[in-house]
Amino acid sequence: MTGQPLPLVFEEPKGRRKPPPHLADLTPEERKARLEELGLPGFRATQLATHYFTRLADDPAQMTDLPAGQREQLVEGLLPTLMTPLKVSQADGGTTRKTLWRLFDGALVESVLMRYSDRTTMCVSSQAGCGMACPFCATGQGGLQRNMSTAEIVEQVLAGARALDRGEVPGGPGRVNNVVFMGMGEPMANYKAVMGSVRALTTPGPHGYGMSARGITISTVGLVPRMEQLATEGIPVTLALSLHAPDDELRNELVPVNTRWSVHETVAAAWNYAKVTKRRVSIEYAMMRDINDQAWRADLLGEVLMSYGDWGWVHVNLIPLNPTPGSKWTASRKADEREFVRRLEAAGIPTTVRDTRGQEIDGACGQLAATEA
Ligand code: SAH
Repeated sequence: MTGQPLPLVFEEPKGRRKPPPHLADLTPEERKARLEELGLPGFRATQLATHYFTRLADDPAQMTDLPAGQREQLVEGLLPTLMTPLKVSQADGGTTRKTLWRLFDGALVESVLMRYSDRTTMCVSSQAGCGMACPFCATGQGGLQRNMSTAEIVEQVLAGARALDRGEVPGGPGRVNNVVFMGMGEPMANYKAVMGSVRALTTPGPHGYGMSARGITISTVGLVPRMEQLATEGIPVTLALSLHAPDDELRNELVPVNTRWSVHETVAAAWNYAKVTKRRVSIEYAMMRDINDQAWRADLLGEVLMSYGDWGWVHVNLIPLNPTPGSKWTASRKADEREFVRRLEAAGIPTTVRDTRGQEIDGACGQLAATEA
């Protein structure tokens, strides 16, 4: 990018309309109260939650335990339509599916389902757009439109769960095992809604989807106060930190929020998360040719991480850069990537290279831009 750096935006513009309330936004008590406010029987809330989270139903006609005369009002009251699929793109024989969603106010977001032999991962968006302005990321170029609601986040996962349950994804019926907040947006800048979605996804049925918190990964540019807050929640989600450079000079450019919290402050917050939760933190590092992939930067990264101890608190996940249109950055040479891995491992840091599923449907990391409609 040759233009001026975009400003950092931590809060959504004021006065945005809110999506209609949905049961995934509410506690079981609030769901009951909402129905009663609408003049409907509160005890129906549990039946609606069972349809949504356990039976994975989305057609009111199937909800035959609800009185026909009230069914529509009940569904509208707690299960309003939050988003419509505009486009589904598939790759890898249908086991990778990207969906472009239109939200109630016209905002566009994307989610990606990835089915592997042993598990299925949903990559979800947490904001329409993003205010973090990382110059190599497609979403970062458009700025932040708004935060997504808890139910808008949950619904991306449930849409995947329904498709799997109905056998629409090759491999037979299945469930969502992993959720990664690696779609559009900065989850830690929409903390409350993201934590609400984690709660809804991990609460056992019928009040939630009942998946394990250990299957959820929250990826962040490094909003230090929120990382500290996350460590106190007592929810064992995996934290991923998008580091991309071990030195402030380069990271200030690649991840502009680094001008607010430095590499050391950010890595210290990640280390603290590992210490408090006993969960190994993942360091994300998008490999950019001749930018951040030099051997000396691998050594420096190893030193920075090891300075916090070698008790296995961290591993590094290298992401081959997905070049975005007009960007000056491109993926590293394979030889440089191998040398980078070798040096990190020699320093004692477990290192993996992310596979780049969905590249040809612009569904891989950092490519979600939702510009199509
Ligand atoms: N805002 C969160 C989630 C964003 S996407 C975060 O930054 O962590 C998840 C990962 O994809 C992040 O590590 C992000 O830096 C990375 N990413 C963004 N653009 C990319 C690109 N063009 N190629 C490869 N990875 C990219």
